[in-house]
Amino acid sequence: MSLEQTFSIIKPDGVRRNLVGKILSRFEEKELRIVATKMIHMSKSEAEGFYAVHSERPFFGELTEFMCSGPVVVSILEGENAVLHHREIMGATNPDDADEGTIRRDFAESLGENTVHGSDSQENAAIESSYFFSQTEIVNSSS
Ligand code: GDP
Repeated sequence: MSLEQTFSIIKPDGVRRNLVGKILSRFEEKELRIVATKMIHMSKSEAEGFYAVHSERPFFGELTEFMCSGPVVVSILEGENAVLHHREIMGATNPDDADEGTIRRDFAESLGENTVHGSDSQENAAIESSYFFSQTEIVNSSS
């Protein structure tokens, strides 16, 4: 086991449906600590930069339009094996495939609007965290 950080987004559908508190509670109840968080409204170019890895995929336009369609909550979460643990709490990308009790199973309405994002590796967690947060916005969890 190792203490890690991961990067999380509550997507526009989650914010629009007033699920921010419920979703952040699930992270906290499952031993993930919020070490940075804020609400932002991404521009189209920010969304395109964030999802650049998917730029050749057929759903890229739909995905980036959706991600800038309203405010989102970006957070950095810390805990044991945070990257994998957070993805388990979120559930599979397609809510129809997500396990019972996961955020996507309980709240997501479609594959495109699946309520939450979470980094898929420690390397991407670091890249994604620095895309939205400066070092001064991240607290030291031991303080
Ligand atoms: P994740 O890591 O579980 O978020 O999944 P991926 O990295 O594979 O995909 C990124 C995001 O793209 C997903 O969370 C979905 O919101 C979106 N996405 C993936 N596949 C599709 C698709 O076929 N159609 C649409 N509209 N969005 C998709």
